[in-house]
Amino acid sequence: MYRTHTCGELRLSDVNKTVTLSGWVQRVRNLGGMTFIDLRDRYGITQLVVNTETQSDLSAAVRELGREYVIQVEGTVAERSSKNSKISTGEIEIVITKLNVLNKSEVPPFTIEDESDGGDELRMKYRYLDLRRNPVRRNLELRHKMGIEIRNYLNHLNFLEIETPVLIKSTPEGARDFVVPSRVHPGQFYALPQSPQVFKQLLMVAGYDRYFQIVKCFRDEDLRADRQPEFTQIDCEMAFVNQEDIMTTFEGLAKHLFKSLRGLEMKNEFPRMCYADAMAKYGSDKPDIRFGMAFEDLTTLVQGKGFKVFDDAEYVGGICATGCAGYTRKELDKLTEFVKRPQVGAQGLIYVKYNEDGSLKSSVDKFFDEGQLKGWVEVLDAKPGDLLLVLAGPRKKTLTALGELRLEMGNRLGLRNKEVFAPLWVVDFPLLEWDEEANRFFAMHHPFTSPKLEDVPMLETDPAQVRADAYDLVINGVEVGGGSIRIHNDMLQNKMFKILGFTEQEAQAQFGFLMNAFKYGAPPHGGVAFGFDRLVSLFAGIDSIRDVIAFPKNNAARDVMIDSPSPIHDAQLDELYIDLKPVSKK
Ligand code: ASP
Repeated sequence: MYRTHTCGELRLSDVNKTVTLSGWVQRVRNLGGMTFIDLRDRYGITQLVVNTETQSDLSAAVRELGREYVIQVEGTVAERSSKNSKISTGEIEIVITKLNVLNKSEVPPFTIEDESDGGDELRMKYRYLDLRRNPVRRNLELRHKMGIEIRNYLNHLNFLEIETPVLIKSTPEGARDFVVPSRVHPGQFYALPQSPQVFKQLLMVAGYDRYFQIVKCFRDEDLRADRQPEFTQIDCEMAFVNQEDIMTTFEGLAKHLFKSLRGLEMKNEFPRMCYADAMAKYGSDKPDIRFGMAFEDLTTLVQGKGFKVFDDAEYVGGICATGCAGYTRKELDKLTEFVKRPQVGAQGLIYVKYNEDGSLKSSVDKFFDEGQLKGWVEVLDAKPGDLLLVLAGPRKKTLTALGELRLEMGNRLGLRNKEVFAPLWVVDFPLLEWDEEANRFFAMHHPFTSPKLEDVPMLETDPAQVRADAYDLVINGVEVGGGSIRIHNDMLQNKMFKILGFTEQEAQAQFGFLMNAFKYGAPPHGGVAFGFDRLVSLFAGIDSIRDVIAFPKNNAARDVMIDSPSPIHDAQLDELYIDLKPVSKK
């Protein structure tokens, strides 16, 4: 038997027991005649002690030990004289009588401590060592628990977990596909699913009216921070439901997770906001509503006073930063730099200080007198001591920039506490999105999303105004999930394909199987998918999804541990009938 107990298990009540433990050497310390070893496993750390004066045979063995050696010890549990309240086994230690080195270890390239000295890339390269660290382990434990809670909750509601294939044909989530060449069908390729979208809809046609799956999805997207080319979704679909039914069901799931994993009772219904308001008031389709600071439209109020920046702008909007009137020149310059960053994209920043004494000082005093500025103060409901921040320019761009500025001010004012959770449903998304470059409409969600039935006539006359039966669940400014009611009528679906610029042949070639299935009694249906990695990271209070994935890829979509992607042998290429083109140096 390698062990009678784990390294996180023994307590005062076990004193005098003879035990066997196995684990990794975290640390060895010599203090006078005593040597202390911290023995670690997944469950915790137990202190081992050897009296180097009386146990000479053991002390020789102990002297050979290095960090991360794997050892087995036998000994007696004893009460510690100096207790350590920071660890669960801190009241006891094991006076060892036998030590068996099960395996040696090279000196690890970084310290296996909560605060490691290893940089990101190094820890990714030796991920199996990084995984030994508590913070990473805790994240994976949380991930596991969340998976269990999701399965429990959905199982109770009669959902079936059904696996769908991974070698498929292109799916329409709007990113590039990863493709896999077929050896037995030379020149043909499978695509990896961007999501199980079409399969879950086919399952509804098949009568499995409540489906879910915790499933890998693959998207070959341009690299952006905190994206993984493979990620995990909680993918769900239901038949005989409307938007309200789906939102109720999955709001229930979210509440269950908050309760079971964070001990948070969320009694109230999650607030809802329509897409148009989210954009107009927060400049984002995923507003962080842990704090207010909503935008006010100042366009008509400020135009026609001879200030060209405003007069030429399609939109002028502002926010009120509580208590920031005391900002120095330097701080305001920093904010100006912030809004001018390419990622934010504003031309400049206009401010008004509403001083404690009631006076007003602005960066546009040449154009606007106190009386006029008072008008801004009223619209933005500012109090003495507040700072108004105003941006102007093309509407969409400026709203987005103001949204970034709002988040920045939220950070500065400490309004984005990770321990506070503010869920929000965003609803009434537009069905279509016009793409200037491609000169055509794209589906905002995906091509199977149903328009709101009352908006269907506008598909012919004003497609851009058509709203979808689509909804996103946003928590703290993070989109954690989204879904829609689907089109279940083949005529409407064909019309949709047409608007999206598919010829009949193209639609048939890509989605013929779905169109056919819809001819055999497709029930009304809809669904949703949650980003599992993102949900876990949010619950863990960390920013990056990488930290909640056991073996993630780096920001360049590389697995630096197994060194992938990597070239394959010519023989493999031959088998697949693939000739490689030379890579052009850009
Ligand atoms: N398949 C969609 C997605 O991955 C979710 C859904 O519509 O259910 O975003």
